[in-house]
Amino acid sequence: MTVPDPPIVDISTLTLTDVAVKLSTDPGSYTRRDLYEERQTPEAGIGAFAITNIPSGTRIFCEESVVMLPDEADQVEVYNAVKSLGEEKQGMYWALAASTKASRDIGWIDRLRNASHEDISSTFNDLVSSHEHAWSIYETNRFTCKSLDGSSRSLGIFPESARLNHSCSPNVFHRYNPVINRLTVHALRDIEKGEELLTSYIDICHPTVVRRQILKHWGFRCRCSACDNPDDDEDYRRKQIEDLFTKISKRESKRVKNESKWTDKEYKGSLGVVAKCIKLLEKEGMEETDTLGVLYTEGVRLAVKIGEEEKAVEWAEKAVEIEKKCLGEDSREFVAAKELLEMARGVQSAKAERS
Ligand SMILES: [Zn+2]
Repeated sequence: MTVPDPPIVDISTLTLTDVAVKLSTDPGSYTRRDLYEERQTPEAGIGAFAITNIPSGTRIFCEESVVMLPDEADQVEVYNAVKSLGEEKQGMYWALAASTKASRDIGWIDRLRNASHEDISSTFNDLVSSHEHAWSIYETNRFTCKSLDGSSRSLGIFPESARLNHSCSPNVFHRYNPVINRLTVHALRDIEKGEELLTSYIDICHPTVVRRQILKHWGFRCRCSACDNPDDDEDYRRKQIEDLFTKISKRESKRVKNESKWTDKEYKGSLGVVAKCIKLLEKEGMEETDTLGVLYTEGVRLAVKIGEEEKAVEWAEKAVEIEKKCLGEDSREFVAAKELLEMARGVQSAKAERS
C-alpha cells in the first residue's frame, strides 16, 4: 500500500490576517475587582495590587476604551473626543495621571485660535491649558491598538488598565485584541496575594541603559528588580537576545528575497539561531507572546521545512500555551498557534505512516 504524501503546506503564508476567530459570546467589559484593588504606591502614584492569589493565565482586565483615535490625532482632536464623553467617562479620563511634558509642537494652538469664536482672552488661555492637560493624559496613558489586519494603528485610553505600573520583569501582559475590541490583561505567572500587578510599557529585551532612555517618555526612573540591581550577566543576556532577534529578522528578510535558492543548510542555520534565542528567553523567564511566542512560531516553520517534525510539534504546543496564557482563546494569535500545531502534527503523522 502506498501512503500519499502529506499535503504541501507552505506555512510561510500562514499569517494572522488569514486567521478567522469566531466569537460565541460577547466578552463584556470588566475588570476583576475580586482579584485586585487600587492602592497608593510610594513613588508611582496609584497601582493595582492582588488581593488574592491569581493563577497564571487569568484574564484580569477585559476593558473597552473610552477614547480611541488614529495615530496622527492632535491636541484639538483629543480634547474634543474627551469633551464628547458622558460625565462618568470624562471623570475617569481627567482622573488619570499626566506626566509627560507639554508638546513642543504648537501648531495646534493656531488651529484652535482660528476655530475659536472667543477673542484672545483669559478664556482662551484656559482652553489652551485644558487642551494641554488632555494631551498630557493622553500621552501618558495611551495604549497601541492594531487593527485586525495589522495595517493601521490607533491609540486608545483604557482608564482601568492605565493604572497598571511598569516593570521590566512584568507579572501581567496587556494587549489590545481587535477581535473583541477590548484591551486584555492576563497574569503571566502565578501572582501572590499582595503583589503589585506590573506590566511592561516597552520591549523588555533591551539592556538597562536603553530601557532607561525609552522610559524617560513617561517621566520616571524604573525601580523594578532588573533596573535597581542591574546584573551584568542579565544585561548581557538581554543584549544577546536583542542581537539574536536582529539576526533572525535579517536572515528572514534575506530568505524572503531568495526563497527559491534557499538551501537546507541555510534553513538549518536559521533554526540554530532561533533555538539559541529560545533557550536564552526560557532562561530569562520571558515567556510572552512577543518574545517566545514569536520565536516558537518561527521555529515550527523552520523545523517542518527541514524535517524536524518532533521539534516542530513540541514548539507548536508551547506556542499554543503561551498565546492562551498571554492573550486568551479569543485572540487571533491563539487560533493561529492552534492551526500551526495541527499542521505540524499532520506532517509528523504523515511521515510516520510513510516510514
Ligand atoms: Zn525596570
